[in-house]
Amino acid sequence: MDKPAVCGGIPVREKKIYYGHQYIDEADIQAVVEVLRSDALTCGPKIQELEDKLCRITGAKYAVVCSNGTAALHMACQAAGVGEGDEVITTPITFAASANCALYCGARPVFADINEETWNIDPEQVRVLTTQRTRAVVAVDFTGQSVELDPLLAHCREKNLVLIEDGAHVIGTRYKDRCNGSIADMTTLSFHPVKTVTSGEGGAVLTNSEAYYKKLLLYRAHGITRDRGQLVHKPDGPWYYEQLTLGMNYRMTDIQAALLISQLDKLPMFSRRRKEIVRAYDEAFGKLPQVIVQREIPESDTTRHLYILRLNPDRLRIDRRAFFEALDAENVCCNVHYIPTYYFPYYEKLGYARGLCPKAEKLYEEIISLPLYYAMTDQDVQDVIRAVERIALYYGVQGTSI
Ligand SMILES: *Cc1c(COP(=O)(O)O)cnc(C)c1O
Repeated sequence: MDKPAVCGGIPVREKKIYYGHQYIDEADIQAVVEVLRSDALTCGPKIQELEDKLCRITGAKYAVVCSNGTAALHMACQAAGVGEGDEVITTPITFAASANCALYCGARPVFADINEETWNIDPEQVRVLTTQRTRAVVAVDFTGQSVELDPLLAHCREKNLVLIEDGAHVIGTRYKDRCNGSIADMTTLSFHPVKTVTSGEGGAVLTNSEAYYKKLLLYRAHGITRDRGQLVHKPDGPWYYEQLTLGMNYRMTDIQAALLISQLDKLPMFSRRRKEIVRAYDEAFGKLPQVIVQREIPESDTTRHLYILRLNPDRLRIDRRAFFEALDAENVCCNVHYIPTYYFPYYEKLGYARGLCPKAEKLYEEIISLPLYYAMTDQDVQDVIRAVERIALYYGVQGTSI
């Protein structure tokens, strides 16, 4: 395989562009400074304000914000009652946290293959892999496109499973006439800087269930409560509290909450721009037989967190690695989401082997995540498109059929 240089002599752009970047404005900075000048850096009023806002935006009844998306997944699994001997079904095309949360609880992750066009977990595979031990399904809205919630929910109801939606990519997306976050039993969010809105580090669990909500509050803060209604013993005095279960310290600070409250004001704007960029990419790449664009289900009105280009190996003389390097040579610096979780040595040691999910494994061989973020200029978008077109044409081969 020839090592790709710059196809057209000089790169499409001089300055490197990366696959993601946060957007912070003066209002965000002011919001953070205000908290720094206030009395409460943590456990203050910004937490409830943020939780109320997340409920308003998504339509969920309850929100529990926490230190990050991984903590949110851990708490959701605990609230779902996931424990020793249980199985949790998830996808391998995700960040490792989607499966690690089952391991934290002593359960075994079971990997279900994806739909080869939408790249989300295949509800039929979930059905096939469900056993007496299955306790929950962690379904990831990969790239921000909603998973097929109706069939997943129907299956979970029938088999008495808890549906946890890993919505780290999903904020701003709607499934049918409702926002994601108000539909599954619990939906987890992440506010890491590469995600659509950020609090630096941060996460949340959304739910419509009061029972889950109460458990999540306990797990977030050591299992400790001051709620008089929940105490087992008679209070010794006004200072009294009790630890009822084994929880963690997964709290978010008010500094982070203030940043996110301000970021959420910009969500409609972020969402609009991301959709514009995705439309431009889809239109350009839809015309190139050398690449394949992600299919969207009609039920999902998607705010894309990631834009993933799939290469069509039948129409290219180079593989993904060479294509990736060719983009790099054009100063378009990409990424790959994701390495199948069970490829990692830790999972190999637990007994997982390659071959489990053939469609996911094939997808992994062929994908590249292109730059997608609010602050990209039209010129940036055009540069990315030109770079992909240039490489696709330069290294393209004629197909045998139309
Ligand atoms: C980012 C991400 C997480 C973890 O979120 P953190 O806030 O980084 O802990 C979990 N699942 C998916 C799919 C993610 O993209």
